[in-house]
Amino acid sequence: MRGLMQDSPLTIDTIFRHAEQHYGDVPIVTNSPKGVTRSTYGEWADRTRRLGGVLDTLGISADGRVGTFGWNSQRHLELYFAAPCTGRVLHTLNIRLFPEQLTYIANHAEDEVVFVDRSVFPLFWPLVDTMTTVRHVVVMEDGGDAELPDDPRISDYETLLAAASPVEFDVRDESLAASMCYTSGTTGNPKGVVYSHRSTVLHTMAALSPNAFGLSVRDVAMPVVPMFHANAWGIAQAAPAAGSALVFPGPMMQPEALAKIIVDEGVTFTAGVPTIWQGVLPHLAGQPHKLREIGCGGSAVPKALSEAYREQVGLPILQAWGMTETSPVASSGVLAKRLEDADDDTKATERARAGIPLFGVEARIVDADSLEPQPWDDTATGELQVRGPWCAKEYYNPDAGTVLSTEDGWMKTGDVAAMDRYGSIRIADRTKDLIKSGGEWISSVDLENAIMSHPKVAEAAVVGVKHSKWDERPLACVVLKQGETATAEEILDHLKPLVAKWWLPDAVEFIDEVPKTSVGKFSKKDLRAKFAEYSLES
Ligand code: ADP
Repeated sequence: MRGLMQDSPLTIDTIFRHAEQHYGDVPIVTNSPKGVTRSTYGEWADRTRRLGGVLDTLGISADGRVGTFGWNSQRHLELYFAAPCTGRVLHTLNIRLFPEQLTYIANHAEDEVVFVDRSVFPLFWPLVDTMTTVRHVVVMEDGGDAELPDDPRISDYETLLAAASPVEFDVRDESLAASMCYTSGTTGNPKGVVYSHRSTVLHTMAALSPNAFGLSVRDVAMPVVPMFHANAWGIAQAAPAAGSALVFPGPMMQPEALAKIIVDEGVTFTAGVPTIWQGVLPHLAGQPHKLREIGCGGSAVPKALSEAYREQVGLPILQAWGMTETSPVASSGVLAKRLEDADDDTKATERARAGIPLFGVEARIVDADSLEPQPWDDTATGELQVRGPWCAKEYYNPDAGTVLSTEDGWMKTGDVAAMDRYGSIRIADRTKDLIKSGGEWISSVDLENAIMSHPKVAEAAVVGVKHSKWDERPLACVVLKQGETATAEEILDHLKPLVAKWWLPDAVEFIDEVPKTSVGKFSKKDLRAKFAEYSLES
């Protein structure tokens, strides 16, 4: 017997129409150096339909790739919908990548047009001739004042929009590609992940659930996570689906500016990587805000950072785990009811976990070679593998030898994790960041967490350096809070009661800043390069 329910496709134009029909009066605010611009979902919907017309006028192919190179803004949200709702494929380019990577990605995806914010135009334009498929560059005014050359490929967003007619959106096939995003490629070339309409709609529903971000018509949501970093973690689709007001920081990503707009616009939900919240903390502490949730992921959320928010801002940080390959949200650390009456430290320890997979995602830990399952005892570790309708099956035209899935259909994450008896995930490390000492593994993440609980420490990253006897030993790279001084002994004494003796770093280096990746994570690759010749044995 077959079910007798309607079989309507899960396509992104359903999210668009829902927002257009029901939330026309809900505000959308975009910040810029010239002040905020105020609009509504109603205006956004009208402009998005006309942007669909612009893509037709520019002659973008039926499934052509539409590149974007910009900050979080209402215009970026227009592109987020106009491209997939007309059957094209949105391709968000990371404005902080190296030029060679940008060229590689635009050519690999075969972008036909790139929409560029004026403030970052000087980063983009020198590359345009290396991008062999790019025929049009559309400039979006974001308060920047970069000069534009006289070139027939360049046009102005608002001029095109004013001349365009609105189009109907009617995507029938949920399996079509909707958008693509490249991982920053810590090793080898960047790898393209291609999201479908179906995967995006299902991910949106999961992101909306109370076990994740819990967005609703009562929220004012601000994605600080860039719209070029893994779909702004789904907020750009979830907010229109839920009717949450949206606040976009635009180019105003400085910590003071972020704290100010959170307060001024009554933001209730926001999300970004830990380094962002580290910077914002002193500007938000003690301010009258309306935040109910701060989402954080992309790398381990230090327990000390979450606790500092609880104490100084009035709410702890909500940790989520995911990857570009998982759309990205796959698990979250919303505290279970059983912990309601637990003491603060127990709760904080629990919040330092990546948490329970969202419904729709299954997770397992296995031996990476034999695929032997590891016990859920919170001690044994293994490669974290996931499966579900918003996890990638394969990369887009991958380099030879790049394999994402196991033979039995699970996605290999490259993360090493333990799981407790509830299946809550605790990320131990990325495989490539684990430190191998005398045949045993040391978790750099655990060491960093312990060092960052020292009151004088602002940031800490731990990398393995070569050792003749032990293979590798940990080196702690520590950034002290402004005005503080500390000795290596002080840091090591702090660690002694917190970690196994053989985990203690062999050396502590005080540095001015931990180098960051293009999406603001600690760049262990750069640190390893910096300390490649470091000698622990002299
Ligand atoms: P990139 O590879 O460019 O960093 P992603 O943003 O896709 O791109 O990174 C995904 C990786 O980020 C995960 O595999 C994991 O190592 C790390 N990560 C994400 N969330 C967390 C978290 N909550 N705790 C620890 N690591 C995390």
